[in-house]
Amino acid sequence: MAKKSYTIKTACPQCGCSRAQVLSEDEMREKYGDVPNFEMECHECMQKYISEMKSACPDWDAECRLQE
Ligand SMILES: [Zn+2]
Repeated sequence: MAKKSYTIKTACPQCGCSRAQVLSEDEMREKYGDVPNFEMECHECMQKYISEMKSACPDWDAECRLQE
């Protein structure tokens, strides 16, 4: 079975540019764990902002809930 991958989509509140990252389950666990919110840095304007996992990556959020 292929490993599942997760797409995190975020948008900068300051300049509005959006970004999508595709990570494997292992990478998700290592980088974010089961946090409800995480910090992102915009690659355009360097603004730091907080994203909610449930809106950035609903798949991962659901996965974490199932494992509780
Ligand atoms: Zn920005």
